[in-house]
Amino acid sequence: MSLYDDLGVRPLVNANASATKIGGTLMPKPVLEAMLEAAGAFVDMHDLQRKVSARIASLTRNEAALVCSGASAGLVLSALACMTGSDTRLLGQLLQDGPESLPRRDFVMQCGQRNPYDPALRLAGGRIVQVGNVLQTFAWELESALSEHTAAVLFFAGSHLGFGSLGLDEVIAIAHAAAVPVIVDAAAQLPPRENLWRFTERGADLVLFSGGKSLHGPQSSGLIVGRQDLIDACELHASPHQRFARAMKVGKEELVGLLAAVEWYLAKDETAERERLEAVTEEWVDALGSISGVTARRDFPGTDGKPLPRAIVSFDVSLGLTGPGVRTAMLEGEPAIDVAVAGDLSIYLNAELLRASEGDLVRDKVARIVARAALEGGDVDS
Ligand SMILES: *Cc1c(COP(=O)(O)O)cnc(C)c1O
Repeated sequence: MSLYDDLGVRPLVNANASATKIGGTLMPKPVLEAMLEAAGAFVDMHDLQRKVSARIASLTRNEAALVCSGASAGLVLSALACMTGSDTRLLGQLLQDGPESLPRRDFVMQCGQRNPYDPALRLAGGRIVQVGNVLQTFAWELESALSEHTAAVLFFAGSHLGFGSLGLDEVIAIAHAAAVPVIVDAAAQLPPRENLWRFTERGADLVLFSGGKSLHGPQSSGLIVGRQDLIDACELHASPHQRFARAMKVGKEELVGLLAAVEWYLAKDETAERERLEAVTEEWVDALGSISGVTARRDFPGTDGKPLPRAIVSFDVSLGLTGPGVRTAMLEGEPAIDVAVAGDLSIYLNAELLRASEGDLVRDKVARIVARAALEGGDVDS
């Protein structure tokens, strides 16, 4: 990789996740080719946005869709859409006097679902109204939080979030009874591919996905699907208009790149992919689990609560290894391997984004770190 070598930046083997901080995912050839072709001509961006979005809506069995610059941008756009609708008087008020002047800008969230992505609502000028507590939310708490100032309820999808929170169906029923829309952040909730239409089928009004996670689209792309009138309202705020979300511009390359990614993803054999992950995970569990002082097991559901397996590898205290210490050691030497920390004494190994044979590299590196620790009888990071 002479480009990265030239910059003095080390490429990483990704045994972690489609994390933005290490570059998300790698785009497959059809996506790269579509982007390259799109880069070769000028087009009317409104026209391209409309046509790509219509194609994606139909492919994902939704009434409407809009390409945006990431799931976080999707949160901002959805929030703006729920604050103004398609009312150009409110749009004018927003641009002239700011979001504080709008009649509806409260976003109701369950405490157990609060997470590092929710400041996007504040960026849109929204106010977060939190209901429930870390352990539980009652239906009456959500009901009583809805008022004439409520713009929407925001729900975070994923089995890793919101233990003790009200489920999506109940949230939708309560919100809709008060004529309040529900936004679902499903940024990382693929696979299964059915999630592209399942949340909207269940009644969610707007649903967001990252383009740069499992869809393997451009890192700076995202997808909003849902109700036509609310998607129209998102579009009102979006680039290429010179309004709030112009700061989250989507280029022609990302537009066609995301369309190609959705097509690629829908054609992908999810069963074969799942089998590949099961095989690598099993191999890791068997090989690493047989080392003295190491325990390894299959962990399911995996990263972001997705229905994919990963391995969790734990180190006996006698080895002097820690989860964070092993993560650092994995990043040293050649090749540098990124893994996630699972706890004080353990790491996760995820095969989702590994290329052929990289599974062996990951296994061998963990084994070498353990062997060195056993030999030294001390801490690897000292
Ligand atoms: C990754 C993620 C986002 C942000 O997605 P981008 O496409 O990187 O903007 C938002 N919400 C959740 C729950 C996520 O996991």
